[in-house]
Amino acid sequence: MDLTLTPAQEAFRAQVRDWLSRNVPPDWAPRPVTDIPRAEAYEFGRMWQQKLHAAGLLGLTWPREYGGRGLTWMEELIVQEAMVQHRAPPVLNILGIGMAGPTIIAYGTPAQKHRYLAKILTGEEIWCQGYSEPNAGSDLASLQTRAVRDGDHYLVTGQKVWTSLAHIADWMMLLARTDPEAPKHEGITYFLMDMHAPGVSVRPLRQLTGDTEFNEVFLDNVRVPAENMLGQVNQGWAVGITTLMYERLALGFGLQARFQIAVESVLALARRTPRNGATAGRDPVLRQKLAQLVIDSAVFKYTGARALTRLLKGERPGPEASVGKIWWCERHQALQELAQEILGPSAQLGRGSPWAVDEGMWQYTFLRSRANSIEGGTTQIQKNIVAERVLGLPRD
Ligand SMILES: Cc1cc2nc3c(=O)[nH]c(=O)nc-3n(C[C@H](O)[C@H](O)[C@H](O)COP(=O)(O)OP(=O)(O)OC[C@H]3O[C@@H](n4cnc5c(N)ncnc54)[C@H](O)[C@@H]3O)c2cc1C
Repeated sequence: MDLTLTPAQEAFRAQVRDWLSRNVPPDWAPRPVTDIPRAEAYEFGRMWQQKLHAAGLLGLTWPREYGGRGLTWMEELIVQEAMVQHRAPPVLNILGIGMAGPTIIAYGTPAQKHRYLAKILTGEEIWCQGYSEPNAGSDLASLQTRAVRDGDHYLVTGQKVWTSLAHIADWMMLLARTDPEAPKHEGITYFLMDMHAPGVSVRPLRQLTGDTEFNEVFLDNVRVPAENMLGQVNQGWAVGITTLMYERLALGFGLQARFQIAVESVLALARRTPRNGATAGRDPVLRQKLAQLVIDSAVFKYTGARALTRLLKGERPGPEASVGKIWWCERHQALQELAQEILGPSAQLGRGSPWAVDEGMWQYTFLRSRANSIEGGTTQIQKNIVAERVLGLPRD
């Protein structure tokens, strides 16, 4: 693919960079590279998202009539890269913009598009994803949350788990079983569920990092209007997979640029960390590992370009996104492990310790990176997708 920008795209990139250089809060720029909005920054995240939206930097590929800009994925890539280069804060409604919005654009009725899309972009309504259950993760089609028709509503009962941001979400992308007799992929329906409806309770779960980024969600006879169904009854599997394709894309898209910044951060760490009378950057073994990360970053960029080519041709994201997810996750975990090796025992010091390097961010990002191979579909499952759908190998 040709990665050369047109003159119009060059001008757009200059505008974006100029806006970011004037608007990224100076106290954010030196902060750790994390994609996840952290609890202390939720209110700031809302305000930041509103600013980005007002500047026209969100929903670039979304139709204009629903608050988007009707541009191409190339402009989206330009914005993503510029956001990372300027170390801009993460977007709070990351699941709404990356997943719910694109799925509503693909499957929603005009009324649903008018109702939901603009508020996703402004951050007025935050979204979460209600897929996983205690007995349905990789094998998502085994989900047991039931939705039973009751007049012009459905009554939903069941439990979701690992639901990121449910504690601040206004809406959920919900998969529920509407026909328990049908083969398991055929009895599922996709709903847009109001998180403030009676019968929804959210219980936070504490993670390895100490943050409570995700939750258990209990649903007890929650009344969901039938008009909140996305797509057709019992055909939610295809809708749900579309969301997952966009999830991998959203993960993969910004991650290539973020990986590049993380590599730069770890190189800088190696240059300033003392080791054997010199710096860690002069250690011959560590240098090999650092060089490999620089190579990985370039490979990642060109692999991402293949997925982008597909989008620029107007196609939906395909299984290529799984390749990007596997690659990023393995290399990002290796990068975090290398940062621990460079820091040695002081890497154990976290936030709150006056001796922690970079305010304990390397400890946080190392611990958080362990989830990379689980969230958004595990590495084993991504490998199955690549094996079956890209390489054409026999089914699992
Ligand atoms: C930080 C984080 C945020 C998350 N946010 C959300 C969210 O917002 N919404 C949501 O719905 N879910 C969310 N999840 C859940 C995530 O999607 C699931 O954890 C994931 O899909 C795996 O499911 P599971 O935990 O049930 O593990 P299991 O499916 O039980 O898997 C256990 C192990 O078995 C392996 N395995 C399973 N089946 C196969 C197979 N066929 N072949 C080979 N190996 C296999 C898996 O790879 C894994 O190693 C989140 C998870 C994390 C870590």
